[in-house]
Amino acid sequence: MTTHRRPMFPNLHASAASGRLLRMRYSNAVMSERTNSILELFECTGGYLRGHFLLTSGLHSPEYLQCAVVLQYPEQAARLGANLAEALALAVGPRKVSLVASPALGGIVIGHEVARALGARAVFTERDAAGAMTLRRGFRVEPGEAAVVIEDVVTTGGSTREVIQVLRAAGAEVLAAGSIIDRSAGKADVSVPRVALATLDVVTYRPEECPLCRAGIPLLKPGSRR
Ligand code: ZN
Repeated sequence: MTTHRRPMFPNLHASAASGRLLRMRYSNAVMSERTNSILELFECTGGYLRGHFLLTSGLHSPEYLQCAVVLQYPEQAARLGANLAEALALAVGPRKVSLVASPALGGIVIGHEVARALGARAVFTERDAAGAMTLRRGFRVEPGEAAVVIEDVVTTGGSTREVIQVLRAAGAEVLAAGSIIDRSAGKADVSVPRVALATLDVVTYRPEECPLCRAGIPLLKPGSRR
């Protein structure tokens, strides 16, 4: 099947073949034009890693999408932010969003770019010594302020839910949440409307059934969480 579409990232010359390869590898991916464009961007910038990865869920996977690798290119980060802002605008409706909040570290760059596109300000939450998500550094939330939460990757939605709680406790009204990648196949429930630029159902194995473990391939932990 051949389709004609306007490339989301026109200055990147992803081959159709590499896109097809990705689509085959992500055999369970929830495919859309937008998901294909995003996967091509990860492929072009080297953010699509292959190997043997330990996910935060404890499961093992032969592939990993490393957002930081893509976001190191400011022009691509800005495009992703603009695309996410566009998707959020549809979810939020006519309300003007004035605050974008993201969990550190992974959400900071993309949150800042989404805020730029929305004409909002960007803050981030971080964990205190006890591991609780908090707003620090003098960041303030106005009572009733319209906010969205932005992450790089949503897997279970846990971090997004924590940021939503922090914002609500500070008096904000959280209208929606968004991420570049949704690894939950659309299933993560964060209690507000949620958008993602690429929705995937990533191939995973339980450690005891993992063919990569059996093959003796070293296990890597690519994420940021300890
Ligand atoms: Zn394994």
